[in-house]
Amino acid sequence: MDALDMIEFGNADIEQAVTSLTKRRTVLHPAAQRYAEHAVRSYAEHPSSMSERMSPARWWWVAQRDSPNALWEMWAWGRRYESVATGGRELRLLRMGSVAGRSDDDDLAATAMAAYVVAFGAAGKWPRPWSEPFELGLCDGVEHVRVVEVGLFDGSVRILFDGTPEQAQRLYVQHGRDVVAELARRDDPQPGWACGKCKVMDRCDALARIPGLLGVDARSTPIRTTSISDLRYYRTCPAQSYMYSVHLPRISEYSTEAALGQGVHRWLEDIHASDHPACTPERMPSGREPWTAGEWEIAGEEAAIGASMLSNHIDVCPFSVDAPITEIRTEPTLSFFDPAAQAVVIAKPDLLYRENGGWVWHETKTTQRTPRGVGDELLDKYPQLALAVVVLGAGALGGRDDTSRVELELLHPGGAELHLIDPTDPARVAYARQVLRELATPWRLDDAFEPRPGKACQWCPVSKWCPSSAAPQSE
Ligand SMILES: [Zn+2]
Repeated sequence: MDALDMIEFGNADIEQAVTSLTKRRTVLHPAAQRYAEHAVRSYAEHPSSMSERMSPARWWWVAQRDSPNALWEMWAWGRRYESVATGGRELRLLRMGSVAGRSDDDDLAATAMAAYVVAFGAAGKWPRPWSEPFELGLCDGVEHVRVVEVGLFDGSVRILFDGTPEQAQRLYVQHGRDVVAELARRDDPQPGWACGKCKVMDRCDALARIPGLLGVDARSTPIRTTSISDLRYYRTCPAQSYMYSVHLPRISEYSTEAALGQGVHRWLEDIHASDHPACTPERMPSGREPWTAGEWEIAGEEAAIGASMLSNHIDVCPFSVDAPITEIRTEPTLSFFDPAAQAVVIAKPDLLYRENGGWVWHETKTTQRTPRGVGDELLDKYPQLALAVVVLGAGALGGRDDTSRVELELLHPGGAELHLIDPTDPARVAYARQVLRELATPWRLDDAFEPRPGKACQWCPVSKWCPSSAAPQSE
């Protein structure tokens, strides 16, 4: 944003703005630096033609509403353009990747709020200190409102709203107002990725605390947030895990096999989240034709392989047995705080439910090869299981200890295997703790996140941003 400000308000050219990125007080990770340079060029070289008659607007557009208990403010993060002569205003929302080819507006509430702010927001400087309200002028003369999103990967542009303030008002009433009211009313905490930056985390009861969860002592360091997937990426390459953590765009992220695994997971997730979660042959794809699960389209040979895996799942479906199962949660987001490691750990079990009062943490893995691996090897191979063992072993979810268990369902075209792990077995818990410690310690103690170039670079979805990548670089 500072580099774009230099171009729009400081008469700098693109090269000067890009050079300024290397002179900032906060040194960026080399991959983030490369992406930032790319993003500045993408933005500055592309979408200017949309607003020939508009000028960059320096101040924020903010809608304020005073109530007896609080002053509410709504604004949108993006770049602003206006024409006093025509009464036009345009807000550009910046996206890290590309917006080309996207047709649906998947977040109508956000678009409605943005359009409302553009139509009715008054201009004001960013308040300093942040705890102070915006000081606003008047908002008048707006006759035309446009909200667009710009993909910083390729400078692609998509119009989300284009109309009058009256139309913006109607869109807000239809899709935005109730969402805003709900957000203002809610006071139930939702632990997750935001916890690590939350100022009241210390006092929050909704975030489960498991001291020593990761087995590393880093009490004097700032809080970090991670997941088992992140730690596995770190083990492959610290730079890759860093790039994922700051959401740099990924290119060709899923191999055919990985996409098939995602499709199988999504198919099961949809059935298990239904009113009748037990899987039956009638609810599975035949495999003779392509099938779709969520955003995953599975075709050709994979359609048949995936259908075999799903068919094999029926034999081990947790809901096909006659047991008192309650509190079924599909892909819930669980958060745990380890004060010793100063880390918030996020987990998303494929399935979590209670059987006879105890929690069952169920993970499903797909493979096209006949799986090998038993006992503690499973915890090494699938460290999510190690996390599950330690969490249930610590009683962090509540419920009865003696009936809780961790399950791994291994699906492959030739069959299905179910492995059960007892989280009350001290030997398994000790081994699981060792797995987590070995995985988390290098990550927690690392501040540089340097690349580990090698063979994996050729499949790395973020190699484009990595100056050390061993993969061929393309523009
Ligand atoms: Zn099932």
